[in-house]
Amino acid sequence: MTRLAFACAIGVLLVAVAVLQPSAAQSRRPAGTEHKGKAFRFNKVKEGIYHVVGTGTLTVVGNSSIIVNDNDVIVVDDHVSPAAAWVLLDEIKSITDKPVRTVINTHFHFDHAHGNQIFGKNVDIIGHEFTRDMLLKGNPLQMPLYKNYLEGLPRQIEDLRKRVATEADSTRKATLQAQLISAESNRASQAELTPTPPNVTLRTQMTLYRGDREIQVRFLGRAHTAGDVVVYLPKEKVVMTGDFLTAALSNMSDAFVNEWPATLDELKKLDFETVLPGHGEAFTDKAKIDYFQAYLRDVWTEVSRLKQQGVSNEEAAKRADLARHKEHFPTIQGPGVPIIAVTRIYELLDRGGGR
Ligand SMILES: [Zn+2]
Repeated sequence: MTRLAFACAIGVLLVAVAVLQPSAAQSRRPAGTEHKGKAFRFNKVKEGIYHVVGTGTLTVVGNSSIIVNDNDVIVVDDHVSPAAAWVLLDEIKSITDKPVRTVINTHFHFDHAHGNQIFGKNVDIIGHEFTRDMLLKGNPLQMPLYKNYLEGLPRQIEDLRKRVATEADSTRKATLQAQLISAESNRASQAELTPTPPNVTLRTQMTLYRGDREIQVRFLGRAHTAGDVVVYLPKEKVVMTGDFLTAALSNMSDAFVNEWPATLDELKKLDFETVLPGHGEAFTDKAKIDYFQAYLRDVWTEVSRLKQQGVSNEEAAKRADLARHKEHFPTIQGPGVPIIAVTRIYELLDRGGGR
């Protein structure tokens, strides 16, 4: 072989290697991807639009949504860990061979944005400026919501190990074993976590155009966090809402509880039919927004009243009675509100209503 032919052969080889590299994700399989069976259900909502919900074989926590365009794929939210996001990308291949070029974070919470790190440098990760700030400078690993979650994992694993060891029924034992694998995988993946902020930000609105499709990313006001965005597809009349609007009650640890109902009024102004929430199944019943607004107004009033009476936050968490909302929110069993919500409302009141 001449020197020139040799150089050409090497060149062809290098190009081939570059082409074969996965474009969207790191080539290395992260720790903690072990699971049995499919990790995700891809629920088709409209042509090219899927609501992606975990099956329980892998810990994924939040939902994602997938938008398959003419030449690329957009992922909205990427779950609780690098492993969960890696498996999501792997399973997307059963739907399309188009590359994921864009990720949108609806907000900064760990169960929606901790998969960010597995996407390659060529992938745009879009989020609100506040989401970038929180993931970049907000010390995301020290945030109480995430810290509590992480600190609970060893106990959860220990508990599952004991239950597997003592369970006599073989079917129940198998279920517990699968849960144990899922919990151990999750812990292994959390150990590799590097919080990764959006590399494209917005303050109020941006629009992506993909062929005939219009994809609006909109900040409608403070609500579940100070930087929630919804992803709105006007032609398909679909909106992806993260935790700003879920199928049930949403966590309030970083919320602006008193502003949330007005921000939901802004959502109501959009012309949509289907909601793809960050937790729970997709829904079309817009009355859910009214029920949630009513709950938020009542929890704010009730907890404010207790604070005014000098009741401690622990005591208020036991006494605050929102039971009248249990018809629409079955997780409400009787009096009592999560302490995390009460503590947040007390904090907002101390700040003078949330400024
Ligand atoms: Zn959240």
